[in-house]
Amino acid sequence: MNEIQLTEVSKKLKSIIRSVPNFPKDGIVFRDITTLLKDKEAFKLAVDTFYQKYKDIKIDKVVSVESRGFIFGSILAYLLGAGFVPIRKPGKLPAEKIRQEYQLEYGTDAMEVHADAIKPGEKVLVHDDLLATGGTVSAACKLIERLGGEVVGICFLIELSFLNGRERLKNYDIFSIIQYN
Ligand code: 5GP
Repeated sequence: MNEIQLTEVSKKLKSIIRSVPNFPKDGIVFRDITTLLKDKEAFKLAVDTFYQKYKDIKIDKVVSVESRGFIFGSILAYLLGAGFVPIRKPGKLPAEKIRQEYQLEYGTDAMEVHADAIKPGEKVLVHDDLLATGGTVSAACKLIERLGGEVVGICFLIELSFLNGRERLKNYDIFSIIQYN
């Protein structure tokens, strides 16, 4: 897919995302992807766009962050012939795991991955629905790298460009379909 086609796809999909003012708190405009997910053409277009981007790259695992990341992450893993690895909030994964803490606006949070989820040297594609400050995905990348995985790309449906998440992830190859400036 060339740049012009991608711009067209981006425009089309952006028009289907619902913007909800003052959710989850005052002053935040929440970008609601459920309006895109329920539209069979838009849903397929988004999946196909991710697939076209990565179909010629060797990817062993697709890693996604709970919970909206799982929606496209698992489909992408299937299409790319890769395994799927969920990263979850603390206390959800049953077997031996490693934990990574990360900063929130106020306080800290943490996420976990099973210790045997990724083998050293495996090539990993990371997916989440939306890039804001980059804190979530940067913690996910740390978990992957602690297990010896190599992050070969990170993809998002939506990027809130004005929050400069890319800056925090500058050592990685980032792809987003829709941007908000
Ligand atoms: P970050 O860690 O980059 O600051 O925040 C990204 C995380 O917050 C993602 O996992 C994403 O699901 C969630 N998020 C923050 N704002 C929004 C939003 O407006 N819409 C959606 N769908 N997710 C959001």
